[in-house]
Amino acid sequence: MTIKVVIAGPRGKMGSEAVKMVRQEENFQLVACIDRKNDGMSLKDIEELPDINIPIYEDTSTCFEETDADVLVDLTVPDVAYEHTKAALEHDVRPVIGTTGFTEVQLEDLKMLAKEKRLGGLIAPNFAIGAVLMMHFSKMAAKYLPDVEIIEKHHDNKRDAPSGSAVKTAELIKDSRSYKSQGHPEEKETFPGARGAEYEGMRIHSVRLPGLVAHQEVVFGGPGQTLSIKHDSYNRESFMDGIKLAIEEVMELEELIYGMENIL
Ligand code: NAP
Repeated sequence: MTIKVVIAGPRGKMGSEAVKMVRQEENFQLVACIDRKNDGMSLKDIEELPDINIPIYEDTSTCFEETDADVLVDLTVPDVAYEHTKAALEHDVRPVIGTTGFTEVQLEDLKMLAKEKRLGGLIAPNFAIGAVLMMHFSKMAAKYLPDVEIIEKHHDNKRDAPSGSAVKTAELIKDSRSYKSQGHPEEKETFPGARGAEYEGMRIHSVRLPGLVAHQEVVFGGPGQTLSIKHDSYNRESFMDGIKLAIEEVMELEELIYGMENIL
């Protein structure tokens, strides 16, 4: 069976990699792209995009009405991605969402809509399989070493902080340890924010620098020892195996799932 795919954000770093991946897969067919400009044009008309005749739409609903798509892959920005995902579900298109920064309310809203429509979907803050394992191992470690800090490092074009992966890691850690206030009870910040963001007593530090892609280290401390669990994505290709798997899996699902670990 050929899965018809629409990609939102084809000019972006992730989106352009996804266009490449979908074109390479025999059982996928790229049927359209959603962009915030170039409406009515074709990918081949845009200099940095592949020389193929794939239509570009600015309006999501028109795109879904005219293309008979099975799956939407969204790699854009949070608020837009929420609207795209909602429109996809309303048009019986299954979402595979890599865009990070959805709020709890938005996630619940989308899950409910998918359930009503009995449509599969996946929102994953990190499609790199190694990163999913890093989160899983962190959850295991927190049971025995509850003092933990998360250091995530990304390129300086990233808009949300902490990263979706750091938030997901913190949520998983929260499930395997009780609330714990870390550091010295009387610690004071000379510069505001020096100790990072606080979540359930753990600290999350976000580094943004050119040259970085997506990196995270979860550091656990216990008497006389530390444990570091670290993952690095060196380029956007690292996310494509996960997106490919998700496109296939959502065709079999009847609900919207959050987190790649739930389909592995
Ligand atoms: P990027 O290079 O900035 O690409 C984002 C693209 O979205 C740009 O082409 C941007 O267009 C486009 N865009 C903005 N508003 C839009 C709209 N209204 N409609 C359609 N397209 C719109 O960023 P990136 O590095 O590819 O990352 C994209 C998203 O994926 C981010 O949320 C990032 O956090 C996430 N991400 C997820 C994973 C994962 O594994 N889940 C991994 C890496 C990144 P302009 O150029 O005109 O602004």
